[in-house]
Amino acid sequence: MRTKFIAGHWKMNLTKTSSIELARSIAKAIPNNVDVGIAPPFVYIDAVASAISGSKILLGAQDVFYESGGAFTGEICVPMLKDLGVRFCLSGHSERRHILNEPPELVSKKTHAIYSAGLIAIHCVGETLEQRDSNQTLNVIRAQLQELKPEIITDPARLVIAYEPVWAIGTGRVATEQQAQEVHAFIRQTIAQMWNPDFASRVRIQYGGSLKPENAKGLLSQPDVDGGLIGGASLKADSFLSIVKAAAELS
Ligand code: PEP
Repeated sequence: MRTKFIAGHWKMNLTKTSSIELARSIAKAIPNNVDVGIAPPFVYIDAVASAISGSKILLGAQDVFYESGGAFTGEICVPMLKDLGVRFCLSGHSERRHILNEPPELVSKKTHAIYSAGLIAIHCVGETLEQRDSNQTLNVIRAQLQELKPEIITDPARLVIAYEPVWAIGTGRVATEQQAQEVHAFIRQTIAQMWNPDFASRVRIQYGGSLKPENAKGLLSQPDVDGGLIGGASLKADSFLSIVKAAAELS
């Protein structure tokens, strides 16, 4: 049985004060039967860590550099994140792949650096609208999964795949339950081929892309949807917590 994992991805939003307030409101109300995480901007991680201290919220980061220290101007390394109590980190988010032009080799290095340092790596995959319209969705997803190295990633509890169709992120246009389930099942099948069926049955696959209170129950009840990566709806405690509640009711 996979515990559902709902992660809030705050992106480049909020202030120090509003981050602390949001983190406190979430910490007060999270259920026991769902894993809940929040990924604030780097500069607020430390303040948010103090605000949620003692709660079971998983603290996350939105990005990281793959080296473990040294002369890399402006970058942040995994040991620094661990030092602040970070437990998970995203890699390959579509905004980094498409706006910051991160190539597959860089995403791959980041995911393995996160995993190798003992954190949970959330490896994000997803097709653009153009790729979906030209029937390339599954090829794109397969290639993005092939950025992962089974010889390095051996603990399924510390690998999470976030399926985020690029056309659904921040657009209000959500994948249908069938579209999400089809790709999630394909991801699990591909992981079974790359590792083995037992490993694949333990890896959690989150859906992300305009996941909101109104569509949470339908999406989260799909057999291969093990949680969500939530952008816009994670910036308000009531909408985020109502998605968490939907996950708890299905658990
Ligand atoms: C995201 O960017 O990870 C995301 C899912 O955003 P939104 O929920 O706003 O579509």
